[in-house]
Amino acid sequence: MCQSDISHIVVAKFGGTSVANIAAMNNCVDIILSNKDVRLVVLSASAGVTNLLVALAEGCKQEQRQTYLEELRSIQYAILNELPETHALQVEIDRMLDSIKTLSEAAELATSSALTDELVSYGELISTLLFTKLLQARHADAEWLDIRNVMRTDNNFGKANPDTTALATLCQQHIVPKLNKCLLVTQGFIGSEATGKTTTLGRGGSDYTAALLAEALNLARVDIWTDVPGIYTTDPRIVSTAKRIDDITFEEASEMATFGAKILHPATLLPAVRRNIPVFVGSSKEPTVGGTLVYNKKGSQPLFRALALRRKQILLTLHSLNMLHARGFMAEIFSILAHHNISVDLITTSEVSVALTLDTKGSNTHGDNLLSTSLLTELSKLCRVEVEEDLSLIALIGNNLSKAKGVGKQVFAALELFNIRLICYGASSHNLCLLVPTAEAESVIHTLHKHLFE
Ligand code: ASP
Ligand code: MG
Repeated sequence: MCQSDISHIVVAKFGGTSVANIAAMNNCVDIILSNKDVRLVVLSASAGVTNLLVALAEGCKQEQRQTYLEELRSIQYAILNELPETHALQVEIDRMLDSIKTLSEAAELATSSALTDELVSYGELISTLLFTKLLQARHADAEWLDIRNVMRTDNNFGKANPDTTALATLCQQHIVPKLNKCLLVTQGFIGSEATGKTTTLGRGGSDYTAALLAEALNLARVDIWTDVPGIYTTDPRIVSTAKRIDDITFEEASEMATFGAKILHPATLLPAVRRNIPVFVGSSKEPTVGGTLVYNKKGSQPLFRALALRRKQILLTLHSLNMLHARGFMAEIFSILAHHNISVDLITTSEVSVALTLDTKGSNTHGDNLLSTSLLTELSKLCRVEVEEDLSLIALIGNNLSKAKGVGKQVFAALELFNIRLICYGASSHNLCLLVPTAEAESVIHTLHKHLFE
């Protein structure tokens, strides 16, 4: 089959809340059946399931484990019980629940990152099995696909990196021949490394899976169905007057995701951007109200686009007189951070100090604390280290910010009553970032939204 035959095909991804129960799943089926171009479906685990599996993987005492296992079983059985003719499926799911039990017992004795990934993968394996059955019950010609035969990654368990070359080849082998024949249902978030062990792409990684598949297959669009109808000028739970953005450029959307807009996994857009594939974001509860289309939009864009908030920031300030006229000091600091697998978000420098922010928690599946004692010890050998917590990062996202006149005045005049701990501006013409005490963060968002967006 030639590639052009599949170029109209859309991959649809449904998040945890969209597949939380049978009613939510039925909405997803309606969405899929209403667009004949949707031939590839990527699912998250049912809401709550990944958290339970992560907790089990961390190793817990028997009583607690029992409670978690029962919770898991009841989430999945509540769906199973609504499906017709499930004998074979029930056997399969029981087998998986048994494996979860065995693996979680092993985790109590000795947990490892490979074991965690294997354990959490069952969330997506089960949700996709149930969903395939539901599609079949609703007369769709649907087939279940184990994405681990396709999504090849390295062995960085918990946040594995996909091998896009291998992925493209494996897609040609396992997906292309089927796409025009049936609806393929597969798992987000999980993959496998060269020796066949299960890996995960990091929490929230299902969007990434969908975008990677779209890229590998050169599909027409990625539809991300979640529980909010699109991308807003800011989080509507904080500011009720936030407005939906109907269309937005890749650059703006990825800035928003990077700076904490929870709606998209920060790396999700990259594969889509690389191939210029549009991404739609909508709510599976209200598919008819529309959503946001992210694409390579041309023409002039608004100066101010959105406000994103990221809480739980840590500010590290490093002071050293050795920095004065020194060379290579920054390189040393950054190599220590890189060695600890930490990426820096914001950075400002003066002659003898440098301030930088890190997230408190990595986004990897295992949620390790980033600020380890060994990191602080290593840094302390080079300089005096100060750590401040309870800070939040507010990113004002826009276009040509650093070239427009009066941006500073508009922003800072509105904020005259607030304490601003750090400012980053100028590296990107798409953002202006502020670090503020978390206690004031929501008020800052309200104030800026009122002045710049209403
Ligand atoms: N189920 C995984 C998680 O909760 C992946 C995802 O939902 O995207 O992180
Ligand atoms: Mg999710």
